[in-house]
Amino acid sequence: MNKLIDPHGRSIHKLRLSLLDACNFRCLYCMPEKVEFMPSDKFMDKFEIFNVTKTLVDYGIDEIRLTGGEPALRTDFLEIVKLLSKLPLKKLGLTSNGVRLKKFLPDLKKSNLLNINFSLDSLNRKTFKTISRSDSLEQVLESIFLAKELGFNVKINTVVMKGLNDHEIEDFIEFSGKYGIEVRFLEVMKIGVMVPMFERYFISADQLMAQIKTKWIPKTIPVPVDSTSYNYTISNGAKIGFIASESKPFCHGCSRLRMGPDGSIFPCLMIDKGFSLRGKNREEIGEALIKTMGLKPTYRIDEMVKPMYQIGG
Ligand code: SAM
Ligand code: SF4
Repeated sequence: MNKLIDPHGRSIHKLRLSLLDACNFRCLYCMPEKVEFMPSDKFMDKFEIFNVTKTLVDYGIDEIRLTGGEPALRTDFLEIVKLLSKLPLKKLGLTSNGVRLKKFLPDLKKSNLLNINFSLDSLNRKTFKTISRSDSLEQVLESIFLAKELGFNVKINTVVMKGLNDHEIEDFIEFSGKYGIEVRFLEVMKIGVMVPMFERYFISADQLMAQIKTKWIPKTIPVPVDSTSYNYTISNGAKIGFIASESKPFCHGCSRLRMGPDGSIFPCLMIDKGFSLRGKNREEIGEALIKTMGLKPTYRIDEMVKPMYQIGG
């Protein structure tokens, strides 16, 4: 197997693969209520996805995380997972809002997709609805508990917003300790719809940590160099992490590329210049990878107008 090394010496071996940009939620920090999605005839079909990712794996990608939009909305979602399960990956994962996932979980368990990150921004029905603009906390929790019961490696991603859900940190820590599920607190990012609202809702990981330390003494857990989170255990058994993309960017250790539903590959969430890999042969894909890696920044780009759901968060 080859290795992908970018011009700054970083080993690039992870791919975020967006299956579609559409979603059944309209999270405040991600999408406007009225939104136009990419026509589905622009999406790569399942075989194109398999063939392109197979070549990327030959070049050195060994971890793939499916994302979107909401990946479980693809009608061929399970078939895509089954195809990707044939690849020699170290890790196949999924990031999902969970609302449609419950029915897929028994079949997913038979695949190689063993890692599921659920987005869950509130444990309170009203706040959940305010943030996601969807009254579906119950269905999301059902998916999370079933995934845990079936033995998936489950994590929860919670985007923390000032004045909306920052008072729920303790509840999430209790939840993590009670159910043995890791919760990662994400700083809201200055991207897409959040650009004009950033100052209003941003709260830093340090501010949250100060809040946590009034009640608990978190213990640091070591993480790999390309980790996006820094993690702690808490005396109640909780495992928590912070993804502080704004206040403590992790670009220096970045090991990721991103691919959109139409087969465009992007160097970074904060760069919207992509190269199409669709219909390309192995050599052409290799050339596009070199160009893409050449655009990977080492520093955090301040803001991005193109929304995350179009690149794949
Ligand atoms: N729909 C799936 C979900 O929500 O899990 C996958 C796609 S979503 C774009 C991936 C992740 O991006 C989610 O954890 C979501 O909370 C996060 N996200 C979206 N917009 C964000 C923003 N402006 N700041 C921080 N995180 C954001
Ligand atoms: Fe949909 Fe995920 Fe964006 Fe929320 S964060 S609107 S669930 S894509």
